[in-house]
Amino acid sequence: MKIPILMYHNIAEVPEGINVYRSLYVSPAAFARQMALLRMLGYRGVSMSDAMVYLQGGKEGKIVVITLDDGYVDNLEWAMETLRRYGFTATCYAVSGYLGQYNAWDDEKLGVRKPLMSAEELRAWHAGGMEVGAHSRTHVRLSQCSDQQQREEIHGCKAELEDRLGIGVTQFCYPYGDYDERAVHATREAGYAAATTTDRGRATVGSSTDLWRLPRIQVARRHLLPQVAAKVLTRYEDKRA
Ligand SMILES: [Zn+2]
Repeated sequence: MKIPILMYHNIAEVPEGINVYRSLYVSPAAFARQMALLRMLGYRGVSMSDAMVYLQGGKEGKIVVITLDDGYVDNLEWAMETLRRYGFTATCYAVSGYLGQYNAWDDEKLGVRKPLMSAEELRAWHAGGMEVGAHSRTHVRLSQCSDQQQREEIHGCKAELEDRLGIGVTQFCYPYGDYDERAVHATREAGYAAATTTDRGRATVGSSTDLWRLPRIQVARRHLLPQVAAKVLTRYEDKRA
C-alpha cells in the first residue's frame, strides 16, 4: 500500500517575464482538472495531518495528500476554492520569517517577487478548513546550518507560526528538500508529527514508513492529466526514487 503526497508551489498563471522555474506554476484551471480527476478516480485529497492515521496504517482508504510549499497568496486565491468544492483539505507550508512578504530566498534568481500570505491570510486559509505547516523561518538549506541555526529555523518556525496564527502547527517540510540527520533529529525534538522531503516516490504505509523523510511527487506545469494519474495510481514515481 502506497500513499501519494503531491507537491505544488504556485497555483497561478506564469507571470510575464519569468523565464526560469516556470515549472513551479500550475494554472488554476489545470489544478482544478487535477482535483476533478482525483475525485473521479475515487480519491479524496487530504492534508498531512488528515493523512497521518492512513500513513501509520491505522486506517485504509483512497487518499492523496496535497501539499503546497512556501505559502503563496495564490494558494488562497486559486487553490482553496477548488479544494473546498471537492471537500478536500491540503497543507500549505509557510516560511514564518516572511509572512506577508515575498520569496526573498530566490526572487533574484527567478526575477520575480511572489507575494506570500500574511498571518491574516494564513488564518483565512486555516478557517477554510486547510492546514498550515512549517517550512523554516527563512527558507535556508538546513544541512548548511549550525546546530543552533537549525534549532532556530525548525523550532522557531513552529513557535512563530503558532504564536502569530493562534493554531497548532505539527507538520514540517525541509526547504529545498535539503536535510541531514541533525535536521531530522531537530524536527522530531521540536514536536512536529512528520516531515516531507523532495525525494521522489509514494509514501509507504504502516510501521515501515519513515515519517521524517516522507517522499513526494512533484506536479509541475508540464504535466498532463494522464501523467498525474500515472504518478498517483502506478509505480511510475516509485521506480524513480
Ligand atoms: Zn520552499
